[in-house]
Amino acid sequence: MAYVRGLKQPITELSGVGPAAKAAYLELGISTYSDLLLLSPRTWEDRSEVHPLGGLEDAQMANTLVEVLSHSYFGLKAGKKRTLKILVRDVSGLGDGRLSLLCFGRNFLEKTIKVGRIYYLYGSVNRNRGELQCSQFELYPATEDGDFPKQFGQILPIYPLRGSLSQRLIRTNMKAVLASVDTFEDEMTASMRENYHLLSTDQAIRAYHFPPSVEVLHQAHRTLALTELFYLQLVARRHKSLQQRSTRTGPSIPTKLELKCIETLPFSLTGDQITSLTEIRQDLDSDMPMNRLLQGDVGSGKTLVAWISALHVLSQKGQVAFMAPTELLARQHAESGAALLEKLGIRLAFLTGSVKNKERRLLLEAIKGGEVDIIIGTHALFSAEVAFRNLRYVIIDEQHRFGVEQRLALLEKAQVPDLLLMTATPIPRTLSLTVFGNLNVSTLRTMPAGRKPVITHLVNEQSRKRMYQAVGVEFQRGHQAYFVYPRIDDSGESDLRDVNNMYEFLKNEYPTVPSALIHSKLDEEEKVHILKEYQGGRIAYLVSTSVVEVGIDIPNATCMVIEHADRFGLSALHQLRGRVGRSVLQSYCFLVFGDELTDEAKQRLKVMKESNDGFYIAEQDLLIRGPGELTGTRQSGYLKLIYASLTDDLPLIEIARNEADHILESDPGLLQVEHEPIRATLANAPPFEEEHSEA
Ligand code: ADP
Ligand code: MG
Repeated sequence: MAYVRGLKQPITELSGVGPAAKAAYLELGISTYSDLLLLSPRTWEDRSEVHPLGGLEDAQMANTLVEVLSHSYFGLKAGKKRTLKILVRDVSGLGDGRLSLLCFGRNFLEKTIKVGRIYYLYGSVNRNRGELQCSQFELYPATEDGDFPKQFGQILPIYPLRGSLSQRLIRTNMKAVLASVDTFEDEMTASMRENYHLLSTDQAIRAYHFPPSVEVLHQAHRTLALTELFYLQLVARRHKSLQQRSTRTGPSIPTKLELKCIETLPFSLTGDQITSLTEIRQDLDSDMPMNRLLQGDVGSGKTLVAWISALHVLSQKGQVAFMAPTELLARQHAESGAALLEKLGIRLAFLTGSVKNKERRLLLEAIKGGEVDIIIGTHALFSAEVAFRNLRYVIIDEQHRFGVEQRLALLEKAQVPDLLLMTATPIPRTLSLTVFGNLNVSTLRTMPAGRKPVITHLVNEQSRKRMYQAVGVEFQRGHQAYFVYPRIDDSGESDLRDVNNMYEFLKNEYPTVPSALIHSKLDEEEKVHILKEYQGGRIAYLVSTSVVEVGIDIPNATCMVIEHADRFGLSALHQLRGRVGRSVLQSYCFLVFGDELTDEAKQRLKVMKESNDGFYIAEQDLLIRGPGELTGTRQSGYLKLIYASLTDDLPLIEIARNEADHILESDPGLLQVEHEPIRATLANAPPFEEEHSEA
């Protein structure tokens, strides 16, 4: 008996695994038997059903018995460049379709594949001028009595390959690993197996690699995916319930400072802002460290929620760190924070890489001495030299822009910090719960009152002129605009040229309108200066590379022109569009595109035209791009899922969550006999490690 994750033998013990294969396996993250067992096939080749030649369409697989009718040659004249073509006829008994096998580089088949004989054929077909053809095929002689040979009827795993690895080697190795264990230990309880029609762990892992039928493959996948999700939920929940030991109960009351700040606002908070503040306050007052994601569409007012919530901690003599992904944004937050909070007597400081020498030294001393309440900055906040007196609360804006390690580095600076992550890249709720495990989520769904949805126009070359006129009208009304060029290459050279040309062109178009060019090669001071001028209305439009993508808040800007819009991803487009429509003024977004659009680009532009709802757009993004998004999530270290898909297995996520809840409620120590398999799996070879936050 063994656990799926308990086989520690090195892969080099398998026959056929020499230094080259070892290195190639390592690239796939495989060094032990268990690692190999946990390698998931990309797909499976299904040869279990007859697919006769009649009725096959392009790219479908033929899987049938054929009789060879004739040999012929085609291609360049008579001579060496000719290619053998074998004409065959279906003899499976299901019609009598015909097919030409094109034997590129395989003219030798003329000798072995005999006219009049019966073969088993497997291959992908295409239709060429009415003729059904196949150039990638496998042929095996049929048995004596004209029946299928053993290659028929199998479902074969197709694994991801690296280096010298072949499907054949991996399959052989996989079979050897499976054969080295007589039975794998069960990881699920008997009642779950029964209730959800699962296989045993042993049956599932074997059938997943070498399925006897498509039905059993589905069942194996379901079993392994549910097992995986169940342990994910179980581990996350146990972690949480350990933390919750001594949670305070009763409502949390806003402090005088918070109320005073809310009174000074020229507008009222939205309902969602109030709800989020209540949720955050409750977390801050509980003895368990807060771990909360504040998600809300661009312009929904997250920053304000962050500032007000910070006041709750300040009245308990704690310090707050507010981290932004870029210097520009950090500066803007520092300014908005100062405007809101300094009149309440709060001491703010701004720390980025560009604060140097004496100024920096004094600032660091003040932070350490507790003379500063709120420190705003970039990742410079978590460099080793920064020490806080009593860091209680960490706020991270646009959290997805920071790596996991960077966040951890900042968290280490506090004893038990409360953490608020803010994101304008909304994650559908079902996903966020799973992806972030025990992270709680607050959502700002409603926009501040009086906002009008941005009107989006798709613009091709013919309508470019009209667009410039429309933007000109906005200038006459005293409003402002952005013209954005995408980053095209990494060196930034060619987009710089493009953006320069654009800038000159627009100066001609609007000779009397003051403008500025802003791009990533400008130094920080210059950028800040330009943005100040823009904010003050002395510049009417900015021409830029995508530096304005995140966070910038200029309510008087009403036009966003995006050139080469087809080259931006949906979330970037949505972010950019979010730079306008930030006041009661009607705003416009112009998406300029070229002639040759890919299907995906067309879909993206259509979604942008249709909707202003970031949640809808995020969901469409997932649909258009497929689960590639989630690969990113995997790599960023939130979780590693082998079998379950967060998009396709939503019902399983629900089941896993309920079961984990139920078990932990009725038997938190997993002591009941029925739960023994779970306890043993967690103790011996857990699919997910329990994290310990004490460290
Ligand atoms: P986000 O960070 O979510 O994109 P911001 O916090 O930058 O959004 O807010 C966008 C703008 O809306 C800011 O100018 C802010 O002052 C303003 N704002 C925030 N909350 C409200 C509200 N309840 N009513 C009106 N305006 C608001
Ligand atoms: Mg923001």
